[in-house]
Amino acid sequence: MSDAIRLDGADLARTLREELTGKVSVLNERYGRAPALSVILVGEDPASEVYVRNKHAACAKVGIRSEIIRRSADISAEDLRELIVRVNEAVDVDGLLVQLPLPAHIDPAQVRSWIDPHKDVDGLHPENVGLLASDQPRFVPCTPLGCLRMLEHYEIPTEGRLAVVLGRSLIVGRPMATLLSARSVNCTVTLCHSRSRDLPRICADADILIAAAGQPQLVEEDWIRPGAAVIDVGIHRIQDLSHPKGHRLVGDVHPNAERVAGFLSPVPGGVGPMTIAMLLENTVRAFQLQKGVQEAVV
Ligand code: NAD
Repeated sequence: MSDAIRLDGADLARTLREELTGKVSVLNERYGRAPALSVILVGEDPASEVYVRNKHAACAKVGIRSEIIRRSADISAEDLRELIVRVNEAVDVDGLLVQLPLPAHIDPAQVRSWIDPHKDVDGLHPENVGLLASDQPRFVPCTPLGCLRMLEHYEIPTEGRLAVVLGRSLIVGRPMATLLSARSVNCTVTLCHSRSRDLPRICADADILIAAAGQPQLVEEDWIRPGAAVIDVGIHRIQDLSHPKGHRLVGDVHPNAERVAGFLSPVPGGVGPMTIAMLLENTVRAFQLQKGVQEAVV
């Protein structure tokens, strides 16, 4: 039985890419060059390789210029800082992101602070975190922004609704909770984490449930309020010998949730493609900000 309406992130991302393609072409004509993104990839983590290649390909599709700058895992923190400063100063680069995770000897908090906050398309520089928290967002992290766009697109009511966010990471859970409580969104927000007690009871009250705990199929059918909108951010590769590849992707939400939820984003094909679409949007935004053009984020 399948009742929930599917929040089709792949389809929405396609539509957004088409819109961005037009915008990029206009900007290119007006300013004599297309927006440009640099991605720094340190080490050879296979999952990061895939993510970076997908970002690069998505940029090409909409006409954004992008480059991948690769460095070996033994790069010193000082050399990485110098590289970031070089990209910060490059006048023909609008957006910069450093792919995570980084090798253990490099402190990600330092790296976040080295990136020029005006090129920080991941929205993780402390200045951008502060701007989001003070209801003046400049760059919002791509995954929570993509989740919000899905809620908007499917016209899921947020005003006065209870949203529960599972996970408090800097890149997903925390900015998600901040966005949902923004004046333009107006949810009442409960933010849960690994030490939260009685999650099933808290989730059962949620009109909107965002699952970003990084725990495969944590959220069961009986955690969900009938008719709730459930966005599954988790991505996990699990072994499945019946699958041609020997594995498949699952999220933080158990598939039986679709029997109860009103709306459910699938994994794959939900938040993943929206995250990449928001990176493209943030890169175009960085270019526009550099040219003095301001558009509201939320
Ligand atoms: P993370 O490991 O940095 O953070 C997980 C958070 O969940 C932590 O704050 C932790 O306190 C909390 N948590 C852990 N166990 C919990 C539990 N049982 N109940 C409630 N909270 C719990 O992970 P992240 O980077 O925020 O990513 C979360 C998930 O989303 C991962 O599966 C990741 O792969 C996925 N992700 C997907 C995309 C995408 O584009 N689709 C992007 C980023 C992350």
